[in-house]
Amino acid sequence: MSTLLKFHRPLFSIPYSIRMVQFGTHRFHSLFKPKRRIRCVSTSSHSQPSIGVGGEWGSPESRELWLQNTISRKKEVFRPKTEGKVGMYVCGVTAYDLSHIGHARVYVTFDVLYRYLRHLGYQVTYVRNFTDVDDKIIARAKELGEDPISLSRRYCEEFSQDMVYLHCLPPSAEPRVSDHMPQILHMIKQIIENGYAYSVDGDVYFSVEKFPDYGRLSGRKLEDNRAGERVAVDSRKKHPADFALWKTAKEGEPFWDSPWGPGRPGWHIECSAMSAAYLGYSFDIHGGGMDLVFPHHENEIAQSCAACNHSNISYWIHNGFVTVDSEKMSKSLGNFFTIRQVIDLYHPLALRLFLLGTHYQSPINYSDVQLESASDRIFYIYQTLHDCESALSQHDVVTLKDTIPPDTVNSINNFYNVFVTSMSDDLHTPVVLAALSDPLKTINDLLHTRKGKKQELRIESLAAFGKILRNVLSTLGLMPESYSEILQQLRDKALKRAKLTEDQVLQKIDERTAARKNMEYERSDIIRKDLAAVGIALMDSPDGTTWRPAVPLAIQEQQVSIT
Ligand SMILES: [Zn+2]
Repeated sequence: MSTLLKFHRPLFSIPYSIRMVQFGTHRFHSLFKPKRRIRCVSTSSHSQPSIGVGGEWGSPESRELWLQNTISRKKEVFRPKTEGKVGMYVCGVTAYDLSHIGHARVYVTFDVLYRYLRHLGYQVTYVRNFTDVDDKIIARAKELGEDPISLSRRYCEEFSQDMVYLHCLPPSAEPRVSDHMPQILHMIKQIIENGYAYSVDGDVYFSVEKFPDYGRLSGRKLEDNRAGERVAVDSRKKHPADFALWKTAKEGEPFWDSPWGPGRPGWHIECSAMSAAYLGYSFDIHGGGMDLVFPHHENEIAQSCAACNHSNISYWIHNGFVTVDSEKMSKSLGNFFTIRQVIDLYHPLALRLFLLGTHYQSPINYSDVQLESASDRIFYIYQTLHDCESALSQHDVVTLKDTIPPDTVNSINNFYNVFVTSMSDDLHTPVVLAALSDPLKTINDLLHTRKGKKQELRIESLAAFGKILRNVLSTLGLMPESYSEILQQLRDKALKRAKLTEDQVLQKIDERTAARKNMEYERSDIIRKDLAAVGIALMDSPDGTTWRPAVPLAIQEQQVSIT
């Protein structure tokens, strides 16, 4: 158990809110000292409102988080079992291939929940397993002539890399099945001793009829679970729905010794055993994709309760499916996308923005149109914040005052109110993303319009808007290390989609400038339109012509037809 214990330490020794404050410069830090207790309510414009754009957000009301609980089929207020602490287990991947966009959705969803719980001040122990012993891994390893454990280790690493690309924070612990055989064997023995399982010829089965609550999570009745009976009846099972806790090893398969002979665990038992090892039998949140409700999570509940009658998980949370061009994603339909395939052409944070653009429980439809839109949107967000940062960098810290105009304070409080209200209402991220529009527009007005440039305390307003946006984007996992770097990466992806190099675009710009000088407007127009068709927009200014990524014209037309 000593290897397990090391994971119980808090992930960070300083509160997350302080980490976020440190992201900014000392200039921002000194600016946002709230005068009094922070409130997230709109205030009258006649008095100087208080502002909470620092790390000290979070009135008691904002801590009330509501989550849709699959087991009760209701939205419930979140109450942790231990004040201030949360235990969360999310089912991880079976590591036999590259992860697909369905996986991206699951782990982005729970990363946002993890980040938001921490934003609310909870100390979260987040456990996400790796299935590294499984039929699919064995079959793939046979195909490739590779050792199953080394194959799964390789794909675990690929998955971890995908999570880094997608800005998913590392969980507190990532246990693997192959490292937890003693805990798994112990739990199976416990279940047999308690009378809920039986062994036959080296296999061990859970007896569903012994567990009257079986079906409570999924709403399925035991008699509904006989669908597969005609296909494959295992006469050794007492009931067709009985499922394997331990499988006897077949020739050439990896195996572990057990009281029932050499073999390996069934899929479901690993999550019961590993969640209990890291979080105990009673913890707060268990999550995963909707496809896991039955049989995986139903079986987990049965196993955990059979092993320990104090087993209790408060909230079961499941995210919806991903469809591709409105069809179910599947390898056989040829519409199956790995995360790597998607991020080859689109920036991983554009993929993340796209995923957060739909409520996590609803189905989400993946298409190039959606990814182009998300890429365009995220470019606008980062360009605005980059311009804001550039403007602020030209001002010395001593010129800044410890005051912010009341209109700015109201606008920021309203935005933050929408953020907390929406996130606390079962993580309504699409509402938060839509609410970004107002502060972004205000920043652009302050930076670029005549009226905005004349506004009193303009720099202070820009600093305040920049800070709130950074904090909200951090909680959504959308905050880049550097705006200029990510803008360049977004430009590079757009060039790749356009099948052009930057030099070729610059050459086209020169050709167009020359054509305009020679009053060959038709020719200059064709150059502009050709580039726009592949997602390269030209922007003319007194200083010359520059380019930025844009939604290709054909896709813009599709967007119009969709709306
Ligand atoms: Zn699981």
